[in-house]
Amino acid sequence: MDCIFCKIAAGEIPSKLIYEDELCLAFHDISPMAKVHALVIPKAHHDSLQKAADDPALLGHLLRVCAIVAETLGLADGYRVVTNVGENGGQTVAHLHFHVLGGEKLSEKLA
Ligand code: AMP
Ligand code: ZN
Repeated sequence: MDCIFCKIAAGEIPSKLIYEDELCLAFHDISPMAKVHALVIPKAHHDSLQKAADDPALLGHLLRVCAIVAETLGLADGYRVVTNVGENGGQTVAHLHFHVLGGEKLSEKLA
């Protein structure tokens, strides 16, 4: 499958790695939307949250890793976790990922 995040998970495309375990990895977004902008992705391909909804254990793990990443990156003052789903949601990479945004006061608007 021609999926950029599968390629990152396989080590075929480099990333600025923050965290890795057997199920997932976290790395810095290439085009940050906040002073700190990380992505948490499962190693296995799921198109989106909608397609992974039948795997709550995985989703819980990914959210836990978002919190670990926030701690690692020093976001004690707060942060935001976002996942975009589908065209209307603004999803551009069709491999499930959670954005972890922080390092500054974020807009009160969600998007
Ligand atoms: P979304 O629009 O929610 O699908 O988010 C996709 C995110 O992936 C965007 O914030 C991109 O900047 C980011 N992105 C795309 N390619 C890469 C890459 N090679 N390394 C890191 N982040 C990437
Ligand atoms: Zn993928």
